[in-house]
Order: sequence, then C-alpha cells, then structure tokens
Amino acid sequence: MFASLSDRLSATFSSLRGKGRLSEADISATVAEIRRALLDADVAVPAVRAFTAAVRERAASAEVSSSLNPAQQIVKIVHEQLIEILGGASRELNLAKRPPTVIMLAGLQGAGKTTLAGKLGSWLKEQGHAPLLVASDLQRPNAVNQLEVVGRQAGVSVWAPERGNGVGDPVQVARSGVEHAREKLYDVVVVDTAGRLGVDAEMMQQAADIRDAVSPDEILFVLDAMIGQDAVTTAQAFADGVGFTGVVLSKLDGDARGGAALSVRTVTGAPVLFASTGEKLRDFERFHPDRMASRILDMGDVLTLIEQAEKAFDEDQAADLANKMAGDGDFTLQDFLQQMQQLKKLGPMKKMLEMLPGMGQMREQLENFDESEVTRIEAMVQSMTPAERSNPKIINGSRRSRIARGSGTTVTEINGLLERFEQAKTMMRSMAASGGRGMPGMPGA
Ligand code: GDP
Repeated sequence: MFASLSDRLSATFSSLRGKGRLSEADISATVAEIRRALLDADVAVPAVRAFTAAVRERAASAEVSSSLNPAQQIVKIVHEQLIEILGGASRELNLAKRPPTVIMLAGLQGAGKTTLAGKLGSWLKEQGHAPLLVASDLQRPNAVNQLEVVGRQAGVSVWAPERGNGVGDPVQVARSGVEHAREKLYDVVVVDTAGRLGVDAEMMQQAADIRDAVSPDEILFVLDAMIGQDAVTTAQAFADGVGFTGVVLSKLDGDARGGAALSVRTVTGAPVLFASTGEKLRDFERFHPDRMASRILDMGDVLTLIEQAEKAFDEDQAADLANKMAGDGDFTLQDFLQQMQQLKKLGPMKKMLEMLPGMGQMREQLENFDESEVTRIEAMVQSMTPAERSNPKIINGSRRSRIARGSGTTVTEINGLLERFEQAKTMMRSMAASGGRGMPGMPGA
C-alpha cells in the first residue's frame, strides 16, 4: 500500500540528511519533489496544492526545535500534513440517540458495498450491537443473495424482499427493514443500495428516495480506491446527487498509489470512517489518519523516536537554561543535573539513534555517555544544601568531605563533578553569547 509514495518521500528526506540548515533553495527543491511524488501517486491537484503550500509555509517559517535537525523537521511537518490531508482526527460512527441507527451505503456497482455490509455487520456485532442488514440493491441480479451469504458468514440477520414478486421496490424494502429493526430491537440497520457502472440520474434518484424514506444517521459513500482519483470525481457526483456523511475506502489492498485516499477528504470535505482491505470479512479496519500517515511514511518508529527526543529535550527547559546564561550567569548545579537527566532519558534509545543517520552530534554524546554516572551525580547533588547547589563556590574542603560521605562517593569524585560543572558553565555561557540554539554540550560526559 502506498509503496511508491513511501519510497519517493524517504528519498526526498534522505537528501536533506546531514544538512545543518535548510536554505530557501533546499526548501523549494524539497517541496517540488514532494509535489511530483504526490502527482505520481495520482493525488488530485487541489489536494496536492494544499499539501505543498502548507509544507512550504511551515518549513520556511522556521519552526525551529532544538532537538530536531532540518531533515527531521521536514519529516515531522510532512507527517502532520499527511494526517491533515487524510482528515485529521479519526471520526466515530454517528449513532442515533434513539435506536435504530440507520446507515445507508451508496456507491457505484462493484465498489464493494455488499461486501462492506457484511464487514460492517460483523464489526458492529463485535462492538456489542445487534445489526440488521437490509437488501435494497434489487438492481444487480445476485445482490440480495450475496448479502444473505455475507450475512450468514458474519452471523448477522438480513432483511430481504419476498421472492417472486417481480423486481420489487427498493424504497419499500428499506422502509420495512427499518420498521422490522425497530420491532425486533436491532439497534443498527445497514441498508445496501444499488449502484450502476457509471453515475446515472435514475440511480441517484433511487438513492435519494431511499434516503428520504429512512432518514439515515450516516450515509457512507463506498469508494473503490483502486480507480485512483477518478473515484473522487464519482464521489463529487454522489455528494451533489445524494449527499453523504462519510466515506469508506474499499479495495485499499489493491491501491498501490494512494491517490483516492489522499484526495477524497480535500475534494469532498467528508471524512473517511473505514477502510476495506480485502475480500474476507476480517479485511476491514477503522480509518485512522495518523496511523495511515505513519504507514505512508513507513517510519512509525522514527516518528516515535522524534516524539521522545522532543519530550526529553524540553524546549522550554533548554530556553530557560540559555536565558540563565545570557542573564546573570546563575547556572546552578541543579541545572547541570537536569541536563544530565535529559541525556539519561535518551539512553534507552541509544540503539535506535545509532540506526538513524543525521543524528550526528547527539549520537556522539550518547555514545560517550554513562548512565550510571547520572545516578552518582544525582546522589552528590542531593547531598548538597540548597545554598551549595546554587553557589558551588562555597563548597570548601570540609563541605566536600561531608558531601562525599553523604552520597557514598569520594572527594575526588566531588572534585571531578565540580570541574565538569565549571566546564559546562563556560560552555553554556559561550552558547548563550553566540545566541546559539540546540542542545547544550556535555563536556567530559
Ligand atoms: P457492490 O456492487 O458495490 O455491492 O460490490 P461488491 O461488494 O459486490 O464487490 C465487488 C467486488 O469487489 C467483489 O468481487 C468483492 O469480492 C470485491 N471486493 C470488495 N471489497 C474489496 C476489498 O476491500 N478488497 C478487494 N481486493 N476486493 C474487494
């Protein structure tokens, strides 16, 4: 799924690795490459335009984060914009306050509506609902039969028209199905409707009549993702003709490019609720834009890592330290300890960081970093009085012995700590003076 888009995007990102700063030309080249990748993935032009504009603006507006290098910042921005274009937060099914909830399925013939009805029925059952599937597709010769088959597989009841009465009236079947659900206490009704091979006025009218007869709580437009952004044109026709409250992407398993998935929200404004990913009942999932975006970037782990790095290197804390140095220079042992603790938080990620190109400076520091050292420093600092912590100059010989005893260390170690603290202080001061951002260096760590 989306393999080629994933490859193209990661190639774009890797060309940024090792860059200390992104020039305007870098940003333009990156945005142009992303645009080409999206167009090749068959994403609709308005969606591509919105996407690239947002990436360009955010990349240029220097959303600087002290813990991320430029390549990582671009990954983060692209990830967030992918979530946005896929619909933002995932959307729950809208359930009626007074059951039964009525869900109507609409879409072209072959889009996957009947298959979806079975999947939805099975899923609803798992969620503790009592669903009823209603066979209002009287157009396709075998549709009623097919719905009965999937209903049986899913262990879900099906309401079908009496046989042998000629063609039958799909509106009447839908209405009587909902009545039946109300009487028999089914709490969700899924109405399968007829499609055509192409958009046609008669089909739209029938769907609109069913809609008016059963007042659905949700009208789900089932969209065959395999036909790419052409599907989106169909979606627009349905939006105008019948209207819908949400989209189901079907056959996402056969969609190598991702055009429909990435276009449908921008073009129709409707959220995607579910994805169908195969012919079997279990090939069905709720659609989560954030997870989908991570899948497209094929880098869930990297994104988690970026989040953790951001958490560990709290920007406010870093800025606070820098301000201290720029101001009256009251960088204390407490601050020093805090720095060390930030590094320690990254310790468990050392292995992962090693796999990542572009983590240069931070990786080097971590390689030389001994976690047990932080525990000892914690003990030493905790054995100091508040006055000693904020003004280490008063720590004379007898104070050193007391601190060593209290922390189970030696005077030599206390001397070592105070020396490193002084070095860090000098370094902090020069960093603050140069207005430099980024993680404070850890001399001797
Ligand atoms: P309907 O005309 O809209 O009711 O479409 P159907 O439910 O009959 O589906 C049309 C064809 O697509 C059938 O052969 C289904 O097995 C197949 N199909 C439906 N959903 C999926 C899916 O998510 N993935 C794949 N690969 N095939 C699907």
